[in-house]
Amino acid sequence: MRNLENKIEQKIKNTIKKYRLLNKSDKIVTAASGGKDSTVILYLLKKFGYNVSALHINLHLGKYSDRCQEAVQELCKQQDIKLHVVDIKKYFGTRMCYIRQGVQQNTNVSNCMVCGIVKKWLLNKEARKLGADKIVTGHHLDDESQTIIMNFLQGNLMLGANSGPETGSLKDKKFVPRIKPLYFIPEKDIKEYSLAKKLPVIYEKCQCAVSSLRIKVRAFMQNKPAETKEKIVNNFLKILPRLKKQLHQQKIIYCDICGEPSRNEICKKCELLNLNNTK
Ligand code: AMP
Ligand code: ZN
Repeated sequence: MRNLENKIEQKIKNTIKKYRLLNKSDKIVTAASGGKDSTVILYLLKKFGYNVSALHINLHLGKYSDRCQEAVQELCKQQDIKLHVVDIKKYFGTRMCYIRQGVQQNTNVSNCMVCGIVKKWLLNKEARKLGADKIVTGHHLDDESQTIIMNFLQGNLMLGANSGPETGSLKDKKFVPRIKPLYFIPEKDIKEYSLAKKLPVIYEKCQCAVSSLRIKVRAFMQNKPAETKEKIVNNFLKILPRLKKQLHQQKIIYCDICGEPSRNEICKKCELLNLNNTK
């Protein structure tokens, strides 16, 4: 097991170095869900000596959300990490299920898509308030290779133009760069690491993650070896500079409703939620 631990830790350090993801002086906020991936990277960034705090969004998905928040609290207590908790009810007056139901009355956007857009919006706004230089997420090799295949199946690789180990193409004072130090680490290795270190982790999946394209792609990719997933991300990284160049031609403006950075007059979150009271 020590071998796997060393291998993972070294691989993450190499990714951070190769892609210049972090500096020791950076103020880092890790988006911590209570799941294994963000827990492992939060634990490791602290172990590596970075200036890291945790940001957890409580989505109020019943007891599941309580357990997730408790797990993050436990890790932060154990490792002496400052924790910030954002309550979705305080922002939107209600729990994630109701937000989604409202959205889905008018559109057929999947549960995970609504939740993902709202979380991204909240993470950027809250991390900026905390003065963060970088937001770290727990996205790993399996997530990233699935996303590339999903974008391909949807006939639009440009959807991934802002991805890669760093979301480098959006440069704006209101936008906190998001980075993914686990970009090249297979999910099963992260799980093994979290178990070996006995980290407080919620392993159960979110009950709301149903019928999205991701679930179908995940099933399709499940038994593919890590080398295949590595090939997918590495080949995508070769074309990414060209996609980013195209993306750079678009300007970043601020959403007319919430004032957050956006590519269009109304940001994705406000377009979906049709809210006007969250500025
Ligand atoms: P997901 O979109 O659920 O696959 O999560 C991807 C990443 O987003 C995780 O690895 C976390 O870094 C972050 N994240 C997801 N859910 C939360 C949450 N409730 N609070 C804070 N960060 C989260
Ligand atoms: Zn907006």
